[in-house]
Amino acid sequence: MSFELPQLKYAHDALEPHIDNRTMEIHHGKHHQAYTDNLNNAIEGTNLENENIETILRSLDMNNKALRNNGGGYFNHCLFWEVMSPNGGGMPAGDLADAINSSFGDYDAFKEKFSNAAKTQFGSGWAWLCVHKGGKLDVCSTPNQDNSLMPDVGCGGFPILGLDVWEHAYYLNYQNRRPDYVSAFFNVIDWEEVSSRYKNNK
Ligand code: MN
Repeated sequence: MSFELPQLKYAHDALEPHIDNRTMEIHHGKHHQAYTDNLNNAIEGTNLENENIETILRSLDMNNKALRNNGGGYFNHCLFWEVMSPNGGGMPAGDLADAINSSFGDYDAFKEKFSNAAKTQFGSGWAWLCVHKGGKLDVCSTPNQDNSLMPDVGCGGFPILGLDVWEHAYYLNYQNRRPDYVSAFFNVIDWEEVSSRYKNNK
């Protein structure tokens, strides 16, 4: 068995003007494809060939750079495409909204904490909203393609929302203006999808 590049549930240009068509084409079709291919190369002939990606990342040898970078890259981008939607934006509702209020105070406090994590991650990396067993939420950031499923990385929770802050995710449209990209991301967040990830992993 090998990993495959997932299909997007929307067209490459569907997230415009917040995320542009060309960036989506390259990001999904080239970058994510490369992580997928390199992940498959890294597990070929090993006992990880039939494991799912979460299991692979949870039991990761952090010194295995090929698996760390490409396994992380594969998982992170799968999540990223899923938590965005052309019908996104707005506010979280239901249990997730309650958890955001009890974990951060209110939605605005969460938004500020998540945005700061994304803006202050130096160099390439990700900002995350993660859930711990029991339902408490955390915000963290990680370098490169690391995520909280990996041993001793980030806040240790399960990632339910992630924002890619590698320059390849925004440079064509935003150049050096990462804060503008971070703020635009909130217009495409699919809170129903994030809610379902929260319910399934709390
Ligand atoms: Mn990326």
